[in-house]
Amino acid sequence: MILANLFILLLGMVLGSFLFTMAIRLQEGTSIWKRSACNHCGTTVGILGLIPVMGYLLLRGRCNRCRGRISPYYPISELANGLLVWLIFNRTGLSENFIHMLLIFEILFLAAIIDFRTHLILARPVILGLVFQSIWLVVFAPGEILNSLFGLFLGAGIFHWVSYLFRLIRKKEGLGAGDATLLGLIGFIFGWKLLFPIIFWASAMGILGGGMILLSNRQSLSREIAFGPWLILAAFLIWRFPELFLTIQVKIPQIELPFF
Ligand SMILES: [Zn+2]
Repeated sequence: MILANLFILLLGMVLGSFLFTMAIRLQEGTSIWKRSACNHCGTTVGILGLIPVMGYLLLRGRCNRCRGRISPYYPISELANGLLVWLIFNRTGLSENFIHMLLIFEILFLAAIIDFRTHLILARPVILGLVFQSIWLVVFAPGEILNSLFGLFLGAGIFHWVSYLFRLIRKKEGLGAGDATLLGLIGFIFGWKLLFPIIFWASAMGILGGGMILLSNRQSLSREIAFGPWLILAAFLIWRFPELFLTIQVKIPQIELPFF
């Protein structure tokens, strides 16, 4: 059993490395199929560089040939995704549910990396998520289709009103149209009822975490912080630890109200 867990963790780290590379390529518009190369000297990444996290540590974060810096977000993505995949496995076991949630959260993780780097929700991961979830619903859960469709429209609709209120209060756009698209996808996957707790937790974590990022980087407060990664993290935490995140929210409903 320990071996199975280690294998899943390693699988998650390898996928994390792949997703981070894919995020950069989707963002740059380059081919996603070519082999990884150093972005300073163009040397193809060797065997050592392909080992998740350990490769980065052994190379001390630098290219073997030109000593150019390798982005620390590689090992960070690998570790984060390793943990993500292991936590999914830990809940579902090796079942069809594991395959379903693995694919869903890998697509969302890809969208989160891109949003974190560029503040954009790219169409391709969203479409991939919509198509995959549609197939899943038709084949395995046709009874959930209405719930999901309602989530899709409510998710995109709620955000229109939230951003409308933001504009009224701050007299500027705080949340982009990309967040509405993403929330529509999240509603489509997790059903409309989870939209409220997801927005609640994403806002709470976004205010806390975003505030800390701003303070530590000493950037100006007007700089936007991507909200998509917080929405995705909240969706994951609620799916993975519902006993924790759905109960606490019920206990403090008065904090939830101002967001709607
Ligand atoms: Zn190099």
